[in-house]
Formats: sequence, C-alpha cells, structure tokens
Amino acid sequence: MKNKKQKRNHAADQINSKLVTIAEVNKLKGKVFTAKDVYRRMGAKDMNQFREIAAKKSHSLLMPAREKKPIGKPITACLDYGRLIAKCECGGAEYIDPDDLRFFCQSCGNIETGRRYRPVIIPDEVMDEL
Ligand SMILES: [Zn+2]
Repeated sequence: MKNKKQKRNHAADQINSKLVTIAEVNKLKGKVFTAKDVYRRMGAKDMNQFREIAAKKSHSLLMPAREKKPIGKPITACLDYGRLIAKCECGGAEYIDPDDLRFFCQSCGNIETGRRYRPVIIPDEVMDEL
C-alpha cells in the first residue's frame, strides 16, 4: 500500500515521463514541441489565456503585466531535445511560440522588466527547423 507521498511522487513521475515522451516522439518525428503544444494541452487558445490558467492552477502571482508589447533585452530561443525554448538568465526556461514572440519567465517573473514580456529572437538556423 502506497502512502500519500509515494502516490504523489508516482503521479509526478508519470507526468514527467509523459512530457519527455512527447518531446522525444516529436523529435523523432522531426516535429518541434513549442508553446502552442503546451497551450493546447492546457486548453488555452493563446499565451494570454495560458498565463491565466497556469496562474490559477499554481496559485501563482507571477502574471505578466497587461501591457502586451515586449520590452527590455531580447531573449534568444533555442532547440532543446525537440523543444523550442528560451533560457532566462535566472536559470528558468519557457516554451516559445514562434507566432507570438514574447517571453515571460515563470521562475523570476521577468522582474528585470517590471513583470512585462520580453521580446524573443529566433535565430535563422532554429527557424529552419520549425
Ligand atoms: Zn527568469
């Protein structure tokens, strides 16, 4: 009989292995896993709706400001095991939507830009893979 903690760890392992599997399958298929795939799984139609759902689920206060235009230092996207992501200076990383080049780090909350989106740059060689 598993206790509560073991059940929770088992569930987390299943979710994690599912994420890895999808990323790996997509890589094998030559498909890049982007923020759009994450939105769809969460039932959101775009980044704004995704942030609202994610914030409610995690009870997070890390919501970007309503200002939609990105500001500050651009962040460069990269491919990471079949995923299109950008790595924040704080150590956090987020999926990137190639059709919505805004970045909001859930780890630091883009504190440097006053919780506003940062612009995203996708290098040509990465764009060629999408
Ligand atoms: Zn960050």
